[in-house]
Amino acid sequence: MDNKFPGKDITNEDLISKFPLAAKKNQNHISKFKVNNTLFGGRVIPIMAGPNMVENEKMIIQIAKYVKKQGAQFLRGGAFKPLSFPYRSPKYNETRELGLKWLAKAKEETGIGIVTEVMEERFIEPIAKVADILQIGSRNMQNYPFITQVAKTGKPILLKRHYGSSLRDFLGAAEYILFEGNKKLILCERGVSIPHTHRSTSRFSLDLQIIPAAKEISHLPIISDPSHATFWRPWVPSMTLASIAAGADGIMLEVHPDPKNAAVDPLQPIDFKDFKKLMSNAKKVASAVNRKII
Ligand code: PEP
Ligand code: MN
Repeated sequence: MDNKFPGKDITNEDLISKFPLAAKKNQNHISKFKVNNTLFGGRVIPIMAGPNMVENEKMIIQIAKYVKKQGAQFLRGGAFKPLSFPYRSPKYNETRELGLKWLAKAKEETGIGIVTEVMEERFIEPIAKVADILQIGSRNMQNYPFITQVAKTGKPILLKRHYGSSLRDFLGAAEYILFEGNKKLILCERGVSIPHTHRSTSRFSLDLQIIPAAKEISHLPIISDPSHATFWRPWVPSMTLASIAAGADGIMLEVHPDPKNAAVDPLQPIDFKDFKKLMSNAKKVASAVNRKII
């Protein structure tokens, strides 16, 4: 490569001494691994879809059935949530152990894979029993003792980028997981904090450029979460299509049957009808860049 990483953020030396496990060994080095029967790092782009929070049993099963029918391989949804403020109305309450039980039920009834967040060490074990992929949230990306414990489970991990972190810090956190011998690691871009767009409701901005940047130097798959990035439903479809065009190795989407009444972050989920339409458009963009969505 002509640009030998002149040292603005990641230097050539970093690739050798700071994150030798996350760095590519050569240009063709791409990690490929299966979670359940879904291959990450291949031509097919896996889809993870579901509500922000697991709200109740009936709804999570309804969502699991719908997103699976539209082609999603994984159901997303938090039973344990990193809510930004400590105040809770009954509607806003995390469903915790109950939510976990409902996720297990949704999996049992539909066969869909489960990706859900783990925030505390004491819950790693019960969550690992239900989840196919353990999600480490943005806010915990640099909680190194915690992510080390999550890595030790040997379960596949989705590592969300902190919204203020550089690619160098992101790959440093990834290295902690790989260092434990856990190779089933998926990176996730979920928006960064920058001066806002014209909408004060857009908390973050999707950093599409990190997708080719990460893939230039790391072999790890990187997926995109346009729901958290935009925080604004009308922008989710276009940013999903743009993520696919940019080379995303997976998409995470918030889907809710009644978005306006979602318990958490009601501005960001798309409804069933929009999800169906988006999946159909996503297939076209995927095929234009020689990828595939099932
Ligand atoms: C989530 O996916 O529900 C979530 C809280 O994401 P993030 O950690 O990216 O904010
Ligand atoms: Mn959220």
